[in-house]
Amino acid sequence: MTADDRFLPLAEPDLGDLEMQYVQDAVRSGWVSSLGPYIDRFEEAFARFCEARYAVAVSSGTTALHLALMARGIGEGDEVIGPDLTFVATAAAVVHTGATPVLVDVDPVTWCIDPELVERAITPRSRAIIAVHLYGHPAEMTALRDIASRHGLFLLEDAAQAHGARYDGRIVGALGDASCFSFYGNKIVTTGEGGCITTDDEGYAARLRLLRDHAMSDQRYYFHQEIGFNYRMTNMQAALGCAQLERFSHMVARRQEILEWYREALQDSGAILNPRDALCDPVCWLVAGSLPGQWTTERLQQLMQRLHEEHRIATRPFFVPIHELPPYAGYRLVTHSPSVATYLSGRGLCLPTSTRMCQDDVRRVASALASVVSEEYAN
Ligand SMILES: *Cc1c(COP(=O)(O)O)cnc(C)c1O
Repeated sequence: MTADDRFLPLAEPDLGDLEMQYVQDAVRSGWVSSLGPYIDRFEEAFARFCEARYAVAVSSGTTALHLALMARGIGEGDEVIGPDLTFVATAAAVVHTGATPVLVDVDPVTWCIDPELVERAITPRSRAIIAVHLYGHPAEMTALRDIASRHGLFLLEDAAQAHGARYDGRIVGALGDASCFSFYGNKIVTTGEGGCITTDDEGYAARLRLLRDHAMSDQRYYFHQEIGFNYRMTNMQAALGCAQLERFSHMVARRQEILEWYREALQDSGAILNPRDALCDPVCWLVAGSLPGQWTTERLQQLMQRLHEEHRIATRPFFVPIHELPPYAGYRLVTHSPSVATYLSGRGLCLPTSTRMCQDDVRRVASALASVVSEEYAN
């Protein structure tokens, strides 16, 4: 096998000697569960990283979202407004609280929730807005902050795909009332599985900590005033996370470089790559492109299959809009006409974005994409 047919995965974790050293240290210490020095160290480092006062580490991005809503008292009878184009966990977490998701279409330029439609989605039952920073591009936080303040709503960032991105000079994780992060294996920072909630509100942070750990009283062992969860992160995961944060600037700069190579290699292709609004300094979670031309789900699947089989290149489609998923089809949808989420989802492709890639790998993806697309159009 030549270097030229090396399989190019969509994403792979960027793990080095430091990760190995810290995780080994955690294992050797015997602190393998959710007590141990790396948890505190990771929470402190992550809070500092997000320029937030508090960081509460949890078991995943999904449990972060669930806990963030529960700790705010959101539940049955409440409505939570979120984008139609996102990973399903954003909406699932709302349903798990007993509240009702209200799905709002995205902006055609930023691909994030459209503030004008959010305004139209508000009812007397609205309690919260979840802003997802899709593929690393911040949502329009000034407009969302303004709407949330005027209507007394809780503004929650879902920053699972956007560690380190900035909006108007300020980092995500400190732009709403609270922010949720994921450290799943393919995210920008990983702990294997894991998540975190950041906030400046001391009382709210204390409530997150309480509910994360079965709501056990700190005065009396095994006394529980209310029903909590086990959403704790382990010391081993936190050890991995500490190493990742120390190497963050290097890892995120590599992703940016890869995106710039793609921009150059695909500049004549007609594809629109990751948005960059003037106010924003996005980060690149995945290189995501909206393809030119006419596509159907079947043709897009055919394209991905050929890239995989003939060129050994892994790709992924964009998320399926939440309103198109059977369990969510009955929820209220406030949308552009036609739906921008459906349009993007029908032609969106994520390309290999591993920090190990070199410029020749990127050129290989670009030329394979060009040749398969032109052949698909020729027949
Ligand atoms: C990955 C992701 C989540 C869920 O995180 P997990 O750690 O996989 O539970 C939630 N929201 C968004 C936008 C995500 O990309």
